[in-house]
Amino acid sequence: MQTFQQYIGGAFEDAGASFASLDPATGKPWAQMPSASAADVDRAVRAAEAAFFSADWAGMTATQRGKLLMRLADLVAENAPRLARLETRDTGKIIRETSAQIAYVAEYYRYYAGLADKIEGAHLPIDKPDMEVWLRREPVGVVAAIVPWNSQLFLSAVKIGPALAAGCTVVLKASEEGPAPMLEFARIFDQAGFPPGVLNVITGGPEAGAALTSHASVAHVAFTGGPETARHIVRNSAENLASTSLELGGKSPFIVFDDADLESAVNAQVSGIFAATGQSCVAGSRLVIQKGIKDAFLARLKEKAEAVVIGAPDDMATEVGPLCTLKQRDHALRLIEASVAAGAELVTGGTAADGEGFYFPPTVLDCSAAPTAPCLSTEFFGPVLSVVSFETEAEALEIANTTAFGLASGVFTRNLTCAHRMIRGIRAGIVWVNTYRAVSPIAPFGGHGLSGHGREGGLQAALDYTKVKAVWLRTSDEAIPDPFVMR
Ligand code: NAD
Repeated sequence: MQTFQQYIGGAFEDAGASFASLDPATGKPWAQMPSASAADVDRAVRAAEAAFFSADWAGMTATQRGKLLMRLADLVAENAPRLARLETRDTGKIIRETSAQIAYVAEYYRYYAGLADKIEGAHLPIDKPDMEVWLRREPVGVVAAIVPWNSQLFLSAVKIGPALAAGCTVVLKASEEGPAPMLEFARIFDQAGFPPGVLNVITGGPEAGAALTSHASVAHVAFTGGPETARHIVRNSAENLASTSLELGGKSPFIVFDDADLESAVNAQVSGIFAATGQSCVAGSRLVIQKGIKDAFLARLKEKAEAVVIGAPDDMATEVGPLCTLKQRDHALRLIEASVAAGAELVTGGTAADGEGFYFPPTVLDCSAAPTAPCLSTEFFGPVLSVVSFETEAEALEIANTTAFGLASGVFTRNLTCAHRMIRGIRAGIVWVNTYRAVSPIAPFGGHGLSGHGREGGLQAALDYTKVKAVWLRTSDEAIPDPFVMR
């Protein structure tokens, strides 16, 4: 079995304990992973803190930080195929997706490399004579970055990139499910030439996560994961008063009007829910469809869902692979059962495949006669689509906004004014019109409500890793008068 190590203070080492990682395609252990103890977490944070104040990092120009990030971007691009194979092996995410996604991860590091020396302060036209006042933007400090198992290289790049561009240092806790790509990424990072301790990579479960997020020296927690874990993190932040950015789950509406281009909308829906085997926070998991197009849409969708190639995640021909964990599969089965009991109708799929591995087929549930079915409000994190129909635009908007989540949304229509009204009315951080699941380092990404707060990607994300210092400088040569001269 392959063995991985954690990365603290620029050195690779074993942790206090270790655990076996399972290959989701077989359900069998394939590698031994380090499990960070509270003492390991403490050393990682101290290494990040020492690096934060070190002359090597704090004294480095922003331009030089940008050059190191650019070197990292090149190394990620060079090693993308190897990283993709590891992510596929450890998480079951299919190789055609990990290959494309990790090649694009390099672009995120490139974007933040370019941004490092463009994070500017400001000069204020202050309302007092003989005074210069300006704002310095300074890095917030040590950042605790916590990621879930899906798309770890991507979800960590949107934290590490802007944090390092701003001059912070980072302790990244990889998920205990499928941490291999992050532990290997640490080896690549090590070659880029950053001072030791600027990035530390550990792994472990809730205990390591809690120790990290409540550590007194952590200034900001950048979290991606589920809402329940986010609540623990926010409670823990009462200890260190760290700021938080939370990228959580979703139950995103995919709204199709009668006038939509049928084939385009079906293709976008297929990729919106079945790509990444449905394990995507922005999965368009609620099809909100107008009655006139519903039958034709569902017939075409069923045809395409049943033609999807299910297979080994490391096969380029595979379109849907296994779920990452057995727990995910059991959750999907239970939720489908409860939804069918509530009146939802299975259009296709719905039962776990026999044989080894955590496979689950593309599934469509028609909930038009079951508006309270739990599948309409609970995240599956699997390839399961719930369908609900509407007659009027107002109804579509009402259905779109019924969940407590607010991450992404899609609108398919050729009617420009209707599209604009939907854009205004939908409560979500992202609205895709006549497209779905497009992302870019240049565009902010994040949600409302139970989907969290804070934005990743774009300029604002780098600014969020800074704090503002107001500087007052008196320019007069005249002596400051004695304030008590009248006494
Ligand atoms: P999770 O919340 O169970 O775990 C996420 C991470 O938090 C893991 O690294 C875990 O070890 C850690 N953790 C667990 N307990 C902790 C604690 N008490 N303190 C600190 N850290 C702790 O999520 P998951 O099941 O791994 O991932 C799936 C969830 O992530 C879904 O809800 C999905 O929608 C969400 N997600 C959101 C985005 C986004 O950008 N909005 C992207 C991907 C995934």
